[in-house]
Amino acid sequence: MTRSFNFCAGPAALPEPVLQKAKDELLNWGQRGASIMEMSHRSTEFQEIADHAEFTLRELMHIPDNYAVLFLQGGASSQFAVVPLNLLHGKTTADYVRTGIWSDKAIEQSQRYCNVNLVADTKETGYTSIPDFSTWKVNPGAAYLHYITNETVNGVEFNWTPDVGDVPIVADMSSNILSRPIDVSGFGLIYAGAQKNIGPSGITIVIIRHDLIGQADKMTPIPFDYEVQTKDKSLYNTPPTFAWYLAGLVFDWLKEQGGPERMAITNERKAKKLYAAIDSTGFYSNEVDVDCRSRMNIPFQLPDQRLDSVFILEAQEAGLLNLNGFRSVGGMRASIYNAVPEDAVDALVEFMAGFEMTHG
Ligand code: PMP
Repeated sequence: MTRSFNFCAGPAALPEPVLQKAKDELLNWGQRGASIMEMSHRSTEFQEIADHAEFTLRELMHIPDNYAVLFLQGGASSQFAVVPLNLLHGKTTADYVRTGIWSDKAIEQSQRYCNVNLVADTKETGYTSIPDFSTWKVNPGAAYLHYITNETVNGVEFNWTPDVGDVPIVADMSSNILSRPIDVSGFGLIYAGAQKNIGPSGITIVIIRHDLIGQADKMTPIPFDYEVQTKDKSLYNTPPTFAWYLAGLVFDWLKEQGGPERMAITNERKAKKLYAAIDSTGFYSNEVDVDCRSRMNIPFQLPDQRLDSVFILEAQEAGLLNLNGFRSVGGMRASIYNAVPEDAVDALVEFMAGFEMTHG
């Protein structure tokens, strides 16, 4: 069986050796005579898997001891609400940066719980840039500052971390977590849906500094109270055990590859190749400012929208899957997360040159 190259934004490509291992262990995990999917989340077998996944993630990201790591449910969209519920700590205002469609959605939900102070905003100019930090209107009394390190739809990525003094920084890293080293201690809270750089959908990782835990609003649903889930090691209720297990296998794979440090080098090279292909002749275009172009999600346009469906179809026939842009945006988008091999990018670049020759 040949596997195609998959450029899906999420659920995204998984490392093939991980899928192979999961397949080998599917019916009979660790010679226990049952699948890991069929074991209690309170069994010693699952506990081993859960602890190992957390341990490896801590190693990969160099997570300091004063941070808890939670494996929750509900996706990053739930965190858009769970963050204000847990972190307002009696305050009424939080700072938000709007650099794309996902931060817009985060703001929409947080407005149910607090007043949003828009610190920086690029909605009017079509989400193609990141405003210089000197222009940000930071509120020193805010409960926290929220931003998205990589805008999955718009292809805008921060390559720097804001410093706002004592106000805790909350970052949605769903689409670029583990793609390069970061300094966790610069953040109060990091969250990420798993289905891009971590594993299959169903798991949401939350990394939170201990001192921020413990003052959730009393309306917070108990499974979303960070204090409860920290005490219960993310087992207050039944977690998605299979997704957690697979995340652990991805972390092992990442470690074998050299971790985020090595991934950063490959990811940089992959993205450079693709942007070079987009910029080379004027047939393809990407409107994002060069200094904040995403290394993970690369949207691009063809000169004539009528060619979009032809491009998708011919790419599919060439074994290049899921290159369509986000539903409300259109155009093309190639998501090239950690598990998308450089060969996939090379194949796409070659296909793009051929497509331009035929249709340009
Ligand atoms: N934040 C970002 C940056 C995302 O890319 C996504 C999903 N693509 C979400 C939040 C929402 O994640 P979920 O669908 O898991 O709720």
